[in-house]
Amino acid sequence: MRYFLIGCCAFLFLGNLQAQKKSRAASQASPKLVVGMMVDQMRWDFLYRYRHRFSEKGGLQRILKQGFLNEQTMIPYAPTVTACGHASVYTGTVPALHGIVGNNWWSREFTRAVYCTEDRSYQTVGSSTAAGEMSPKNMFANTICDELKLATQFRSKVIGIAIKDRGAILPAGHAADAAYWYDPKSGNWVSSTYYQNTLPGWVQNFNAQKHPDKFYQRGWQTLFPSDSYHQSDSDENDYESTPFGQDQKNFPYNLSGFAGKNYGVISQTPYGNTMTFMMAQQAIENEAMGQDSIPDFLAVSFSSTDYIGHAFGPNSIETEDTYLRLDRELGEFLDFLDQKVGKNQYLFFLTADHGVAHVPGFLEKHKMPAGAINDEGMIKELNELIQKQFGLSGLIVSALNYQLTLNHSILDSSAVDQKALFRFIQEYVQKQPGIDRVFPLENMSKELLPGLVRERIINGYHPGRSGDLQVLFLPNWIDGGKKGTTHGLWNPYDSHIPLIWYGWNILKGRSSAPVSMSDIAPTIAALLHIQMPNACIGKPILSVLAEE
Ligand code: ZN
Ligand code: ZN
Repeated sequence: MRYFLIGCCAFLFLGNLQAQKKSRAASQASPKLVVGMMVDQMRWDFLYRYRHRFSEKGGLQRILKQGFLNEQTMIPYAPTVTACGHASVYTGTVPALHGIVGNNWWSREFTRAVYCTEDRSYQTVGSSTAAGEMSPKNMFANTICDELKLATQFRSKVIGIAIKDRGAILPAGHAADAAYWYDPKSGNWVSSTYYQNTLPGWVQNFNAQKHPDKFYQRGWQTLFPSDSYHQSDSDENDYESTPFGQDQKNFPYNLSGFAGKNYGVISQTPYGNTMTFMMAQQAIENEAMGQDSIPDFLAVSFSSTDYIGHAFGPNSIETEDTYLRLDRELGEFLDFLDQKVGKNQYLFFLTADHGVAHVPGFLEKHKMPAGAINDEGMIKELNELIQKQFGLSGLIVSALNYQLTLNHSILDSSAVDQKALFRFIQEYVQKQPGIDRVFPLENMSKELLPGLVRERIINGYHPGRSGDLQVLFLPNWIDGGKKGTTHGLWNPYDSHIPLIWYGWNILKGRSSAPVSMSDIAPTIAALLHIQMPNACIGKPILSVLAEE
């Protein structure tokens, strides 16, 4: 009897799978729309920490229940920062090949730090500030959106949207129709003459409505009574920053004083995400995305989770409340897509550009090793010591991306013993609290490190844009100050990201087989039957394709 029942169950299960596969085969050859959703700084564990309070109608709840989950998705490089993450998800490769090695890097050509998407040959569209002097030109590789353009003879419409310029520009790629981001000075959504010379009417209308001022009037109260946030630390802590002013240390936050005055602060509230959803919806409606058989691509990124996470940390009521709101707003957005594009007519995925470390002060309170490193102070002192010892002035020009960059023209024109100099730097830096070790990047492949760590650092290294010496932090030591937190290291809290697929041709299910951030773009390419991006090193995720 027992075997009979097991047999029946197996039969029913296989039958169900067969039926699912059949319905997949019967659906149309391509989705009408692909929606890529990046949640800036979203750790994978947030899905489960907050799940008990996701709404029945919520979007995170819906994709957790009905989507396909790759539970062990890791970032295959360091530094784990925003620009690298957005570029790597959409190019299917790593900074070593797409060239976006940080949000900023030291340019030997310009002898200054450059910003990943800066491009002074273009002007701002939509405000009189410099916020739009941007393009994707620093990215060597093309993105999956570019490949979709190539595959459809440029008939597909591609639009990128995010509060952060880099979160909109890098995913949308080189051939995008448009990218829109938020200008914190004017409070407008703007673009660059790289894409177009004037803002479309719908974006102008959106700006004219002055949404930030309306949100400021509402203030930020918690969705539930604040003492019911059991997944979080107490509301007020001296290791949290105070982005809304020194006098505002806990909920409810009064934002009315910012109206008409400070348009940047909205990014540090959940309303930054609300505005991003509104823009995404407007783009779909006004640009007729997903309305015909040629697939379009909307690349949307939610930046406020990152700003809030930096200020308050992953264990704060502010972060928890932000995700509960995101769940609800995503639910409404998916309802909108169902109605506008059609159920199962769009392919949706959610992932993140990186995770985040706990606030060091919070961990210290619980006797866990952690701390903050002030690298600017360290470099200043080190340069003085080098001057004294070797007679070279201002040798270290940058400590960006956990790497020290040296001034090569000073170095090359001096007769100093380079080995001795490097040893001197190593010995000094390694003595600082929180530093594990320092080593020259040129000999990285010989460094006595676990293969995984070595590989992640190599994957993040580009000879033209990276530094000369790598600084490896101890776990949970951050590059920052006493308040708030950050991300950027190889460690799991920074590199383990969510990945959920939902909608067109996606079977409900989950897999715990390790996959990489670089596998996302080739999986989309496989689903759409288009070419992989041109520097792709990732592999299609078989569990998502439900194929052997
Ligand atoms: Zn980020
Ligand atoms: Zn960040």
